Amino acid sequence: MQSIGIVGGGIGGLTLALACRQAGFKDIYVYEQASHIEGLGAGIQLSPNASRVLIALGLKNALTGVASYPQAVHLRAWQSGYLVAQRPLGQFSEDRYGFPYYHLHRADLHQVLLDAALANQVTIATGKTCLSLDTHQGKERINFADGSDAAHDVVIGCDGIHSAVRKTLFGADEPRFTGHVAWRGMVKADRLPKGLISSAVTAWMGPKKHFVHYYVSRGELVNFVGVVEAAEEAQKDSWSEESWRRSGDKAEIVEDFRDWHPSIATLINAADQCFKWALYDRDPLANWSAGRVTLLGDACHPMLPYMAQGAAMAIEDAWVLSRMLENWEDETAKGFLEYERYRRPRTSKVQLGSRAQGQQFHLSDKWKVLKRNLRLGFGSRFLPDVAMQQLDWLHGYDCVKGFD
Ligand SMILES: Cc1cc2nc3c(=O)[nH]c(=O)nc-3n(C[C@H](O)[C@H](O)[C@H](O)COP(=O)(O)OP(=O)(O)OC[C@H]3O[C@@H](n4cnc5c(N)ncnc54)[C@H](O)[C@@H]3O)c2cc1C
Repeated sequence: MQSIGIVGGGIGGLTLALACRQAGFKDIYVYEQASHIEGLGAGIQLSPNASRVLIALGLKNALTGVASYPQAVHLRAWQSGYLVAQRPLGQFSEDRYGFPYYHLHRADLHQVLLDAALANQVTIATGKTCLSLDTHQGKERINFADGSDAAHDVVIGCDGIHSAVRKTLFGADEPRFTGHVAWRGMVKADRLPKGLISSAVTAWMGPKKHFVHYYVSRGELVNFVGVVEAAEEAQKDSWSEESWRRSGDKAEIVEDFRDWHPSIATLINAADQCFKWALYDRDPLANWSAGRVTLLGDACHPMLPYMAQGAAMAIEDAWVLSRMLENWEDETAKGFLEYERYRRPRTSKVQLGSRAQGQQFHLSDKWKVLKRNLRLGFGSRFLPDVAMQQLDWLHGYDCVKGFD
């Protein structure tokens, strides 16, 4: 039985540890750079393609205790609030795909994953920043910033967008700053006027900007993300930084959404703090694996957040990779190539789809806006079944039942 070293204790790394445990592996180590594992003060949407994996890992009860359940997706015009299009979620999602659409606080999701990993005898070492890897006495060795090292039969880099494992395998990548900056914040629901925020996840689409909000934590909190295409000058500024923890000046986001529907200003003003994240884009990677080392999640396919699928893809990866490790235990390198072969087309499609989705949200030309709104509105009002079918490839994907 192989010993598995996982670099990164984020959503992807912890899900992988659990999936490997369920596949029968016993010797599983997660190395996390932070001094303790914690989620951030942000929300996350998990569509049925991801919730089915988490439920297969036995997390249904724990997630039910902390989730919110959006009843629909609403797409609205930025200024008038006109409902351009809608799609049902909630019970509809469960009936169509068999699994729920969750809205979660990231801290809750991390806690659920961490508790399950510890209960399943996964070893978690914190304060371990991976700097590089090498092969030593037939094992893959992880070298840490504190001077220590650890050797395993296989190593998986789940260390996110700035992956040190990816750099060791394939060199530094060259992301492109999209010029898009994501603001985010969280507000206690009872601070807001009653009825301001509906039970739908709502995306307001406007010229060069969009704004999304939804409930998390059983409806106790409202999470929001506002994306703006920053001016050229601002792009050169020092805040073009990919980080969840960079706080920003609230007055700036108020200004960014000044002419928008008044409910957006009410929501932003109720937040104690806002954070900003500069959004970078990367092309799909040609290779994910080298020998007995591979990558998972943002480490190999970071994507723009416009389809809300980055974590979902990491969760799907985790299930598939654990089963490939099980099936190819004596030939891990081949198993890793199979994992890539199976996963890369799907994650590349979502990566490129997210890029395109951002462009659709941010249209400014009034004819293009009209065309988009007519297309979305017609589909949702007159051909709802056809509109829903367009998402089946994404939300209906079932890696749990097996794969070729
Ligand atoms: C604004 C925004 C909104 C989003 N909304 C959604 C959404 O609604 N739904 C969705 O599915 N996705 C969403 N995403 C994407 C999602 O957050 C990511 O795709 C997901 O977190 C990736 O998980 P991961 O485990 O691969 O990486 P991460 O979550 O980044 O975890 C990486 C872990 O590795 C650790 N680490 C990093 N370097 C090292 C090192 N050298 N050594 C040891 N440990 C290391 C980090 O501390 C971290 O714990 C959003 C992203 C953004 C920016």
